[in-house]
Amino acid sequence: MSAAKPRALRDLLRVPPGERVRLADRDPGETHGREKKTAVDELALGLERLTSLQDRLWAEQEHPVLIVLQGIDAAGKDGSVRHVMTAFNPMGCTVTSFKVPTPVELAHDYLWRVHQRVPAKGEIGIFNRSHYEDVLVVRVHDIVPKAVWSKRFDQINAFEELLTSTGTTIVKLFLWIDKDEQRERFQARLDEPDKRWKFRLGDLDERKRWDDYVEAFEDVLSRCSTEQAPWYVIPSNKKWFRNLAIADILADTLESLDPQYPPSTEDLSNVVIE
Ligand code: AMP
Ligand code: MG
Repeated sequence: MSAAKPRALRDLLRVPPGERVRLADRDPGETHGREKKTAVDELALGLERLTSLQDRLWAEQEHPVLIVLQGIDAAGKDGSVRHVMTAFNPMGCTVTSFKVPTPVELAHDYLWRVHQRVPAKGEIGIFNRSHYEDVLVVRVHDIVPKAVWSKRFDQINAFEELLTSTGTTIVKLFLWIDKDEQRERFQARLDEPDKRWKFRLGDLDERKRWDDYVEAFEDVLSRCSTEQAPWYVIPSNKKWFRNLAIADILADTLESLDPQYPPSTEDLSNVVIE
């Protein structure tokens, strides 16, 4: 007897527009019936799909695709870029890591630096952190008053609506780990010399604000998951599942664009190469 085909992770993990998200209700260790022992092969298949789809996307030069990665410290944003994005030809792919804004960036509106980095037609643009920091770290640390950041959810939705209505496909991935998992990953960063560079003492202060971050993320997920620019909550305690889920969701998304190799614009029917 063959097992029923599991439901697409793209449907299972998407946040329906308007849903009030409570992260406490979402198990970061969930694997939706997938198993570790078959995950390696499944991931390889997912990455192969991604490679072939991106090749066509790049050749076609029609669709910009924006992938937004967010998550609390040590949730696996960098690791996801490393593992999943290896499927892509770097020529058609850009990665932007958004850091503390520079003075020039701060002298502009908060979306200015973001808009400059959005992908062009045929490109996949990956945001490692994003404009959402302006309602996350900025809110948790009171960098601007509530009267300012609270307006940003609507502004962000309007900005993303501008992008999607002019042809960009947006996929937003929230990597969800729990506090125990973060402790283990921080500990590994302390213990392993090759990982130390990733650890800053400031990470401990951020960890103390865990509940504030959860509240801020819940508002982001509840207010900014739209039909055209959905958020996905990726259970990320298990890295193998996280990678599998990301590859699967991205491949399904690219597939729905049905990218095609463009026909030649010249008549090549009588060409003889001597
Ligand atoms: P990392 O991703 O570990 O390289 O760290 C980047 C840092 O930049 C994080 O501490 C973010 O919170 C911070 N950051 C990113 N965007 C903003 C922003 N708009 N305002 C303040 N801090 C930010
Ligand atoms: Mg960091």
